[in-house]
Amino acid sequence: MNALKHLAFDNRYATLSEAFHTRLAPTPVPDPYLVAWNPNAFELLGLDHDKARHPDFVTTFAGNMTPAGADPLAAIYAGHQFGHYVPQLGDGRAILLGEVVPPDGNRWEVQLKGAGRTPYSRGGDGRAVLRSSIREYLCSEAMHGLGIPTTRALCITGTDMPVMRESVETGALVTRLAPSFIRFGSFEVFFYRDQHDEIKTLADFTLRHYFPELLEEAKPYPALLREVTQRTAKLMAQWQAVGFCHGVMNTDNMSILGLTLDYGPYGFMEAYDPTYICNHSDHDGRYAYDQQPNIGAWNCTCLAQAMLPLMELEEAKEALAIYGETFATEYMRLMCAKLGLLFEEASAPLVTGLLDLMAQNAVDYTIFFRSLAQFDSGANAPNTEIRDQFLKRESFDAWASGYSKRLRASGSGDQVRAMQMNAVNPKFVLRNYLAEAAIRKARDERDYTEIELLRSILAKPFDEQSEFEDYAKEPPDWAKKIEVSCSS
Ligand code: AMP
Ligand code: MG
Repeated sequence: MNALKHLAFDNRYATLSEAFHTRLAPTPVPDPYLVAWNPNAFELLGLDHDKARHPDFVTTFAGNMTPAGADPLAAIYAGHQFGHYVPQLGDGRAILLGEVVPPDGNRWEVQLKGAGRTPYSRGGDGRAVLRSSIREYLCSEAMHGLGIPTTRALCITGTDMPVMRESVETGALVTRLAPSFIRFGSFEVFFYRDQHDEIKTLADFTLRHYFPELLEEAKPYPALLREVTQRTAKLMAQWQAVGFCHGVMNTDNMSILGLTLDYGPYGFMEAYDPTYICNHSDHDGRYAYDQQPNIGAWNCTCLAQAMLPLMELEEAKEALAIYGETFATEYMRLMCAKLGLLFEEASAPLVTGLLDLMAQNAVDYTIFFRSLAQFDSGANAPNTEIRDQFLKRESFDAWASGYSKRLRASGSGDQVRAMQMNAVNPKFVLRNYLAEAAIRKARDERDYTEIELLRSILAKPFDEQSEFEDYAKEPPDWAKKIEVSCSS
């Protein structure tokens, strides 16, 4: 009867006590329909593609039917939002269906976002709108395509149920997958309530299931903090290198596994501007692009604070100390690769010099780096196509002469370097206007083909895909004023 009956569930998070969650089923929606499904995520779960067409699929992932073996719940957590501690957040509209164990043994927690009110909803309606669900679905898969750790997306289901935001929109649910959705805020909630036993229980759970190798360490708790700090620093380096701005780096949106989590008002950098703020509700620019590495570090100190009952202050400080070095090294390694330079001290001025020039000339971040693979390192080569991206052409010339000298000294030929650079400089990123075009088609015409097309292009962002040249272009005029707010 149930098409999803062979999904095997083993719900480890649900084995934690009631201090950690509230059991409840999703609230059904009227007349759900399938908006998008992601074949790559089907493979992760070991689901046959034809399951997408089965009515049980929509019914399940709209929250209208709980699959056998699932044990749905809303998790509790807290968090620092825009620098201020908010004592109780928790899944206010997400419901963890359970944990699927596919035939390959790689487990995935399956979460419905937009599944209705929970005890943690506060004032919210527990719903998500089609617009924001499309944005989350596309961006999480785009990030995965870029090789950046992230939650994944299985599908979007829609309903014509009206959902009130700045205007009336329609509801949707995005089904997210991750090995775990535990956040920094999952620890913080217990620290600020003086529930130290629960901090230990959660740390033990995290170690046992996600970092078993750290249990071999003399001090597993500091080792866990150090590992999470290191993963966070590496994640920030990857975001910066690809020009990704998250927009809401509250500690409840920071994954304990170092995944990119919670796609709201995010944005990919277009004209390079280090002070870029993608979230129009972020008036002070707390989460501006150039602040992300510092905020990542600040968030790790919040986690450290919450884990202090498990370790000495000195141990926590030592664990946190890994952040600065990891970020600096990773970021420079990634940037050197983007420029096709050897990862060495002497390359750094070329990286920083280039970024300064790009900022002064508002050069498109993705297009520029992709085009740089075509740089001719011959003495006095004109490199017109690259040069013309700068308003002040002469300022580029000075940099280019230093760059070409360095390339010639490094000995690798232009052709080999071009191949290496194309493997790290994406041609396609999820520009706001691309997402917006897919959203408008879906909303105005019930045409979901653009979502699937974008998903498939963004799954292979380093491939030329020359038939989709238009998707690699700067925003057209109509898209220059798109604003992205927190409302989702
Ligand atoms: P976010 O900024 O999307 O991570 O959300 C922060 C907190 O607000 C989380 O606890 C969410 O579950 C909750 N939240 C956001 N939107 C809604 C909504 N529409 N209904 C209920 N809770 C919400
Ligand atoms: Mg969140």
